[in-house]
This record gives sequence, structure tokens and C-alpha cells, in this order.
Amino acid sequence: MDAKEILRLKVRLLTEGAVLPEGVWGGRKGGAGPVGARYFLLPNGRACGVPVRRGRVAEAYGSAPLDTTEDPSVWLYDHKVELRLVPRPKFYERTTDDGVPYHKIALLHGSSTLATTVYQACRYWDRGLQCKFCTIPFSYQGGHTVLEKTPGQVAEVVQAAEEEGVITDILLTTGTPDTVDMGCDRLLRVVRGIREVSDRPIGVQVEPPADLKLIEELHAAGADAIGMHIEAAEEEVRAYMCPGKYEYAGLGVYERAWLAAVDLFGRGNVSTFILHGLGESPESVLAMADWAAERGVLPVVTPVRPAPGSQLTDYRPPYVGALDDVVDLYHRLGQILYRWGLEPKRTMAGCHRCGACTPVQEAFDSAAAAR
Ligand code: SF4
Repeated sequence: MDAKEILRLKVRLLTEGAVLPEGVWGGRKGGAGPVGARYFLLPNGRACGVPVRRGRVAEAYGSAPLDTTEDPSVWLYDHKVELRLVPRPKFYERTTDDGVPYHKIALLHGSSTLATTVYQACRYWDRGLQCKFCTIPFSYQGGHTVLEKTPGQVAEVVQAAEEEGVITDILLTTGTPDTVDMGCDRLLRVVRGIREVSDRPIGVQVEPPADLKLIEELHAAGADAIGMHIEAAEEEVRAYMCPGKYEYAGLGVYERAWLAAVDLFGRGNVSTFILHGLGESPESVLAMADWAAERGVLPVVTPVRPAPGSQLTDYRPPYVGALDDVVDLYHRLGQILYRWGLEPKRTMAGCHRCGACTPVQEAFDSAAAAR
């Protein structure tokens, strides 16, 4: 498959999802980031978190089957494309010194990123102002994780994952606590804990703190990349979809924090999610992506994935049934990334480095191949 075909395949998988055989586990049900997916390797060797859909939802999204073959590591998508299942890491079977299963502390995302949410709650939920796509409390409420991970617990899992040889980088995110540090203090402690045992690149994700010194402290503690996520490309959409985040900070606050962070972390090591499918226009997505990329901020353009239990449970994004349009969006995004020299896999850490939920690397590859 050439770069253009790989991009189309990944966009199709990420938006349509796939129907897995009955009884096969459908991925984690709650937590930070898109949920309800299984990780497979595409023919280009990169990971894709394939949304698992069934029944009426699968019909609505036009999901094709993804079936097992005689080789348990090889699956067949839509009867013709071979995908390799990312194996379950062995470190999931171990428990921390204080008795918590490792898989409740951190998980392998994609094929080589160890990710954890250091604080599994968010102040916006308390006020009914949570982002409409968010499911952060559900994994904790369902007993699949703990409310807060200690630096020692995370460091232990990092060491085990490194020993097993399954990770290249680490990603720490957090719900926003009701404190002015916006969660930076917890992230700082965990980064320091990891740095006692590992020199793998660490990406952190947080809302922009008013005090930019906190970003400096994260960098000084050993974080290599930072994501501060605007989420939506249009203000009106953002106000509706992310009322709490919108109320806290407008684009100007993000810009100030992004620019300060680019000075410290370097171009491409500062990123922002820009979700599409929330009701914004493709032109707005591309305009914001271009604006961010020009400033060295990697725009992690990603299809929103409505999750059961979120406020978008029954929401059907406008990208459903519009594959050609979405592929075109990513072609144009690839040209933007290429023009500004931002190649996701050449950055230190971040969701784009894992890349399982976003086709930004494939968009870049496709634009590069067309040159
Ligand atoms: S800021 Fe939004 S997406 Fe992030 S944890 Fe809070 S409610 Fe969820």
C-alpha cells in the first residue's frame, strides 16, 4: 500500500470503526482520550486504535468486519487487509509493591507508548460543565483504575514496561483539579518519580496554567513535550462542547502558554488536539491547524469518537458517511504539517507520537510522498 492508500485506510478505520467477532473484548470503556478501541498495526507498521462497534451503531457508522485468522496475531479487515493485533503486555499481570495491579496504573497505548491519567477526576464534572465527549470518571468508578497514581507506582510500571521492551515513550495526562495549578503539581511529582528510574521521553497534558512558571518547572523536572488542548476549532462549538474549559480559557490564554512552551520544549513538542466532527467546518479545522503549526504547535487533528456514557452517546458526527471529505481534510492537513516541517514521529512524545487515535503521521507521509 502506498502512503495515500494507508492514509485512507486509517481514516476509514478511525471513523467507521469495525465489527469484531462476538465475545471479543471491545477495549476500555472509560477514561481520558478516545475509548472503546483495540490496537492493531497497519501495513505501515504504525498503530491504529480501531473503534469496536456492534449492532445498530455499527450499521449507522458503516463498520466493516475485522475477523480473526488461523494466525492469532493476524486479523483481516473488510475481508482483504491484514492487520496485526498489538499483543497484551506481560507487565499487566504484575502488581505494585502496595498491591495495585499494574494495569490499573498505566496502559500501553498504540504499540509503544505507556500512558496514564495521574488524577482520574475533573472539576468540570462536579459542575455539569464537562466536555461533552468526556468519560474520565467511568474507569475509576468501574474499578478499572485508581483515583490518583503515586509517583512511586508510575515509576514501578515504567520500569517493568521498559524491562519488557515494549515502550519508547511515556504520556501523562490529568483531569483538572479545582486548584490554580490545573494539575501541574501532580504531574511534576510523577515526572520527577519517573526520572529517578527512566530517561524515556515524557509528554504531559494539562490545561494552560495561568502561572507559566509551572510549565518551566515541568520542563526542568524532565518533561520533554507538553499538550494543551483547545479541542475545537470554532469558539461557538467549543463553548457548547467544552463549557468548563471554554469558561476557563479562551484562545489567547492557549496562545500565550503554547508560545512559552515552544520556547522551552521546541517546535513540535508542544501540541493541541483539534477534534473534528463536532459541528465545525473543515475550513476552520485547517485554518486553526495552520495557525498553530506556524507557531510550532503540532495540531493533533482527530475524529471525535462519541463514547457510551458521555453526553455524546447518541451523537452521530457529520463525518459518518463522508469518507472522501474526511480523507481530503487530512490530505490538506498533511500539506500544512509538511510545509511547517512538523513530522509527528520526529517529536519526543505526545498523543501524535503514539498516533493510534489520529492519522496525522499518515497525513504527513502522504503529503511527503506527493512531493
Ligand atoms: S477537561 Fe474536559 S475532557 Fe478533560 S477531563 Fe475535564 S471534562 Fe474531561
